[in-house]
Amino acid sequence: MIIFNSVEKLKNHLDNLRNNHKTIGFAPTMGALHQGHISLISIAKEQCDLVVCSIFVNPTQFDDSVDLKKYPRTLEADLELLKVANCDILFAPEIPEIYSEKELNDKKNHIEDKTWTCGKTIDFGLLDKVMEGAHRPGHFNGVAQVVSKLFRIVNPNKAFFGQKDYQQLSIIKSMVKQLEMPIEIITCPIIREADGLAMSSRNRRLTEEERKEVPSISKLLFFIKEIYQTHPINQLKEVVANYYAKESMIHVEYFEIVDSETLLSITDFKNSKSAVACIAVKLNSVRLIDNVILY
Ligand code: AMP
Repeated sequence: MIIFNSVEKLKNHLDNLRNNHKTIGFAPTMGALHQGHISLISIAKEQCDLVVCSIFVNPTQFDDSVDLKKYPRTLEADLELLKVANCDILFAPEIPEIYSEKELNDKKNHIEDKTWTCGKTIDFGLLDKVMEGAHRPGHFNGVAQVVSKLFRIVNPNKAFFGQKDYQQLSIIKSMVKQLEMPIEIITCPIIREADGLAMSSRNRRLTEEERKEVPSISKLLFFIKEIYQTHPINQLKEVVANYYAKESMIHVEYFEIVDSETLLSITDFKNSKSAVACIAVKLNSVRLIDNVILY
């Protein structure tokens, strides 16, 4: 595996590969890698000649500075996992390679700041207003900002993202379409621990006691999937609302059943061709998300 920290050197290397007609797959990550990330690399390896993984903890997508500071950073272990996965190229830039001082200082205003669009008008409509967007103001602008920059650097044929971050996928697909980027976005399934917990870099911040509780999140989602055909949506929402007692260490931030395309809340399954149930919970300072496609 070749490791690049410099944008310029990576670009030159990838230009050479493209000139030799190699197809490039790309999986952007924030590191603290687990088998969920590795599954993206494996799927990319099957579909492309070469796979680039990036590790960059993107400051502009964190609305909470404590979360950013506490975000796990485990580069040595990440390198081992990537080597085992036969990843071809790792791009691990420092912040100044990606952002100017001005862009970082503008961060406070980045909800409205769309300078990363290179002059093209971009509008996510309601996609970035609901669920994660409503609870983490500016988060998706930061995500789209960094992914658009990374896409311009790597210029992949295909980019691989996890269904785990369902709303993020919708945002990226919308961004690529609006910016007319010739990149195919591939959705990869959620990889779970044996007890059903969706793998996440944040899981390692859980205490032993919290770790024992969190498999209930996916159990609840799977239960909703089992019963949704025989229960109206308001009853399904009640099931979730009543599931965790007030004194539970798990606090549900939101549970939504949304149309898979628009991400708008569904009140009746008859009105949507496909639906996904999404949940966000908080355990002290650790925030976890999960989802299950209902149909
Ligand atoms: P992150 O490092 O959390 O920004 O995630 C990088 C990529 O890995 C995103 O496309 C995520 O959706 C994906 N990912 C994270 N966790 C999982 C998982 N458990 N299963 C599949 N993909 C995942």
